[in-house]
Amino acid sequence: MTEEKNDQLRQQLIAAVVKKRAAIARAQEIVVRLLEPDVAEPEFLAMLWEIAPNHYTDIVDEREISRNCGYPLCSNVLQNVPNQKYQISASQNKVYDITERKKFCSGYCFRASEYIKAQVPTSPLWLRDRELRPSFQLLLRDK
Ligand SMILES: [Zn+2]
Repeated sequence: MTEEKNDQLRQQLIAAVVKKRAAIARAQEIVVRLLEPDVAEPEFLAMLWEIAPNHYTDIVDEREISRNCGYPLCSNVLQNVPNQKYQISASQNKVYDITERKKFCSGYCFRASEYIKAQVPTSPLWLRDRELRPSFQLLLRDK
C-alpha cells in the first residue's frame, strides 16, 4: 500500500470515529431533553430517529426516578406508586408483574410508551444516514 493510500484510510477512519462520537453525544442530549416537561409531539417524534432502544429505556427509567410519568409526552407526577412487584387479579385469577407498568401514571401512558419503544430503530446511530427514515406514530388516546 502506498503512503498516500494509507493516509487516506487513516483520514476515513478518523472521520468515522468523529461521526460516531457526535451521534452518541446527540443521543445523550436527547435523553436529557426528554427528562424535561413540555416536549412538543413533533419534536419528540423527530428525536426518535436519533436514539437507540437503550436510550429510550434510560429516559423512562430516569423519569420514573424523578417521579415523573415515564411517557415523555406526559407531564403528570407519579403518585401512590405501589411498592410491590406483582399484582394479583382475583377476577382473572392471574398474577401480573407490574414493574414496568408502575413507571407510568396510567394504562394509556404505559401503552403509548410501549408503542413508541417498539418503533425506536435498532440500527447503529452513526449509520442511520444510510437508511430511510420511518414515519413514527403516536398511540392515539382512547376516546
Ligand atoms: Zn402519564
